[in-house]
Amino acid sequence: MKKWTALTLAAVMAASMAGCGGGTDAGTTAAPAADTTAADTAAESTEAAADDTEAADAASDKVYQIATDITFKPFEFENENGEMVGIDLDLLKAIAEDQGFTYELQVVGFNAAVMAMETGAADAVIAGMSITPEREELYDFSDPYFESGVGCAVLSTSEATDYSDFAGMQVAAKTGTEGCKFAESIAEEYGFTVVQFDTSAMMYQDVMAGNSVACFEDYPVMGYEISQGMDLKLLDKLESANNYGIAVMKGQNAELIEMINAGLANLKESGKYDEIIDTYIKK
Ligand code: GLN
Repeated sequence: MKKWTALTLAAVMAASMAGCGGGTDAGTTAAPAADTTAADTAAESTEAAADDTEAADAASDKVYQIATDITFKPFEFENENGEMVGIDLDLLKAIAEDQGFTYELQVVGFNAAVMAMETGAADAVIAGMSITPEREELYDFSDPYFESGVGCAVLSTSEATDYSDFAGMQVAAKTGTEGCKFAESIAEEYGFTVVQFDTSAMMYQDVMAGNSVACFEDYPVMGYEISQGMDLKLLDKLESANNYGIAVMKGQNAELIEMINAGLANLKESGKYDEIIDTYIKK
């Protein structure tokens, strides 16, 4: 094992002991689950790439491992045909086609995706990942591609209007997320406790079952789920406004970030970016 890998692992394990940086089982959930369909589709585009330098040829042979969340609608989710789709994954596919690189998708969950990148099992994370100053110390992000922020949802029948209504109760959050970090940051002030889940589905379920009075998660995602019939409502709150970016470990995979940025710019220019957003978010 290379020295930096051992150091990174130690750092990851230390981080997983506390706060929202990872649950106790964070390290064990990072097993790669390659989506060969996505990889096969992306592989076709490699042939179309016309590279005239040897270095570029070598780069195009590489199959990038890209980790994502399990369900984070409308950014990534499994459709009725069992395919992983969504804004993130459609953008990734279009960027890879535009830039002529090949990838395999690891559908592992948000925290596990970040862990996979930290331990070198994945080259990049695309998972509605918020660009924050803390994360920019550790990771290099692509140009921002979507505006987001943390919202708070309660049962549609709830009378809660403010965080102070959660005193003495439990709220739900997803491990490793900005929503979890925000909930933890105000827990003491408002006298509630935070319970963490690995997936958004489990977190919503805990609110639906009445175990948790609320959950903290990105408002575009909860808004989308609510528009699709989820029986929760958003409080009139927006915290930690941020933008999503695609991440790689700092100082590593610079060529991948360059291709992603170039591809993203081309998709914005061609209208493909808007087309992908419009597929999932109706105006
Ligand atoms: N945007 C949030 C974050 O980066 C949540 C991402 C997710 O749950 N996939 O923390």
